[in-house]
Amino acid sequence: MASSFRSSASLSSNLPSSASAHRASGEVHLIVGPMFAGKTTSLLRRIKSETNNGRSVAIIKSSKDNRYAIDSIVTHDGAKFPCLALPDLSSFRQKFGDDAYEKLDVIGIDEAQFFEDLYDFCLKAADHDGKTVIVAGLDGDYLRRSFGSVLDVVPLADTVTKLTARCELCGKRAFFTLRKTEDKQTELIAGSDVYMPVCRQHYVNGQVVIEAARSVIESHKVKGEAYSEVASAV
Ligand SMILES: [Zn+2]
Repeated sequence: MASSFRSSASLSSNLPSSASAHRASGEVHLIVGPMFAGKTTSLLRRIKSETNNGRSVAIIKSSKDNRYAIDSIVTHDGAKFPCLALPDLSSFRQKFGDDAYEKLDVIGIDEAQFFEDLYDFCLKAADHDGKTVIVAGLDGDYLRRSFGSVLDVVPLADTVTKLTARCELCGKRAFFTLRKTEDKQTELIAGSDVYMPVCRQHYVNGQVVIEAARSVIESHKVKGEAYSEVASAV
């Protein structure tokens, strides 16, 4: 009993006040929106302001997205944060280390739509471990269906922010992500070569255009086959 008191006293004297503060109250903040809405920038801005307040931070990204370097994130103004690329969130504590996890105040999660265990992770980190969790991800996929577990976190969240982009076709506020290609899988990781942010009108029009383009291509294919049959018959 006495030794446990002593160890907790020495622990708190060695750590900044934020780390020894009462751990009962965590937070969950959710940032959603279409692609190119600045979700990652917003996440990093919040993470940076937490470090400015003396809090210890880490960022988790999905290892599915290997478009960028992944052991750290450097912002435009040169601030650098530790970043782990993981296939799931449940492996974070073990990968990061128990002691390091204990000392951690703030966890940022980017590309949250790729983490199936998002709800359980946020629940435990905020409710039981007293962490502030800042989650950034797509609320909807290119067909405007709920993407991954992102929306499941809404009931856990202190705040929810939906960011907008600029419509690539008219410059108005864009709420949706339009896929320019014919690929059908939900998780197609790519940038502006495949996706563009669009307003509602251009989302609807865009879907019509893509459908029309598809039927033109398919009719060409049929004609092409017909031509080749004629050619082989001649
Ligand atoms: Zn538009």
